[in-house]
Amino acid sequence: MSELMNNTKITDSHDQHFMQRAFELAQLAESHEEIPVGAVVVHQGKIIGEGYNQSIMSHDPSAHAEMIAIRQAGKRVNNYRLLDCTLYVTLEPCPMCAGLLVHSRIERIVYGTPDLKTGAAGSVFNLVSSEQLNHQITVTSGVMAKECSQLLSNFFRRRRAEKKASRNAVKRQSIPPKK
Ligand SMILES: [Zn+2]
Repeated sequence: MSELMNNTKITDSHDQHFMQRAFELAQLAESHEEIPVGAVVVHQGKIIGEGYNQSIMSHDPSAHAEMIAIRQAGKRVNNYRLLDCTLYVTLEPCPMCAGLLVHSRIERIVYGTPDLKTGAAGSVFNLVSSEQLNHQITVTSGVMAKECSQLLSNFFRRRRAEKKASRNAVKRQSIPPKK
């Protein structure tokens, strides 16, 4: 019992540490006007892959943080299987990324905030631990949940305000001049 608790404690602080790096990558995505999501792949306590969402700037709908981090990790270990690896991501993976994570045979996923619209690690779908697929992944959620969720909601709030401001500017321009 006490051994289990000690292990949990160690894992928790590691989780916090690696999620912090994923969070920094999410901030980097935001600095490029991309939806702020960041991810890292960890093997034996070392980061072997990093990614942040860059779909818009890469003109690539598959350029999610997880996809980029997994591709980098595969190259790093020269293997298309990421055995004994953990993926940290600030937002619950979408169905595409969840499918990728199953293909990669990653051991564990740790995510920050749930995605109640398209989350595929338990919120809307559960692709990562489905018995119908040939690999099941352990999931931990809620690490730095508040920070990760605030980063996203602030981003969307700001973007809505900017869109509204630009719509209003167009409206002002289209008012016909007084005769
Ligand atoms: Zn995704």
